[in-house]
Amino acid sequence: MRVGVPAEIKSAERRVGLTPSGAARLVREGHQVVVESGAGRHSGFDDDAYRTAGARLADRDAVWEQADLLVKVKEPVAEEYRFLRRDLTLFAYLHLAADRPLTQALLDAGTTAIAFETVRDGRTLPLLQPMSEIAGRLAAQAGAHHLQASAGGPGMLIGGVPGVAAAKVVVIGGGAVGTQAALVASGMMADVTVLDASGPRVRELTDLLGHRTRVLMSDDDEVARQIADADIVIGAVLVPGAAAPKLVRREHLRTLPAHALLVDVAIDQGGCFETSRPTTWDDPTFDVDGITHYCVANMPGTVPRTATRALANATTAYVVRLTNGVDRALGDDPGFAAGLNVADGAIVHPGVARAFPDLP
Ligand code: NAD
Repeated sequence: MRVGVPAEIKSAERRVGLTPSGAARLVREGHQVVVESGAGRHSGFDDDAYRTAGARLADRDAVWEQADLLVKVKEPVAEEYRFLRRDLTLFAYLHLAADRPLTQALLDAGTTAIAFETVRDGRTLPLLQPMSEIAGRLAAQAGAHHLQASAGGPGMLIGGVPGVAAAKVVVIGGGAVGTQAALVASGMMADVTVLDASGPRVRELTDLLGHRTRVLMSDDDEVARQIADADIVIGAVLVPGAAAPKLVRREHLRTLPAHALLVDVAIDQGGCFETSRPTTWDDPTFDVDGITHYCVANMPGTVPRTATRALANATTAYVVRLTNGVDRALGDDPGFAAGLNVADGAIVHPGVARAFPDLP
């Protein structure tokens, strides 16, 4: 099979869909790999690294046109729709339920589209998890940074020092994001509290995070009590398939310390603070009622060297399975089949079908 790897052209996206080591593995198994020149640059992989791995370098048009299987990171943008065709399998983050034009373009072209974000392994989403882990760690770092006066913050050191109290960090939602946020914040010696609404998860977190972190069952009253003296509140909840619940509402803002920082990682699902709106790394924060909000929607985008490797660690094994036959790979594994969103001009994934009941 011929595997194509284009450079990402979506704004601020610097990751690449396949590493040189992944390319070498496919070549060893008898496949051809065609990589767009410069595609790995921001992730620390130059063209020579792909050449050494046995891949061929080409321009964007050739990569798309020659591929049987196209592996990328983000969904195709409008200027890439012209490359979609029936005998192409696309494997990437797609988020189709929020993207009618792309869904229509995939249907019109008859492309087979498999979305990273809907591939399942039991109850987990293995191709989303590594990006959540990165966002969680970054949330704690961003919180620490924005407490500093040089970043416009109140001038606090997140971990305090002997004799001076550490900052209080409240993490709402103790899944992939929240666990990593709590680990990094407590590693920086902050005073960390994690809230989760799931009893079994609260028990797991208590064992995992140990005596250095308070783990509490989340409800409206507990959230209000915990945020009232927080220096940083990190929002990390997820209700699968639904918009994030608004756990911190506008009326809560006047109950927070005036210098508090709200970090809403769940912003890509609409945010779990009522006053959140998406921001970018270029301009990450804004104020509402004097309270600073940090709501960067694509947090892993700023660490492509780490994020490309973390993503490839999860995706490459699935790419290998697709190269041995797409139908077989999906037929053998219902979790992988859950990744199939569109095929043969019809929507296959129930979530996408619900979003567009008028489409085939
Ligand atoms: P996850 O499913 O691993 O964890 C979510 C946790 O939230 C679960 O433990 C669940 O029990 C808990 N929860 C649900 N409702 C709750 C409530 N009312 N109160 C307290 N806890 C509650 O999800 P995740 O992978 O950690 O993702 C969290 C969010 O971060 C998602 O919206 C995800 O899309 C987002 N995310 C954002 C970025 C970014 O760059 N901004 C990157 C990765 C993930």
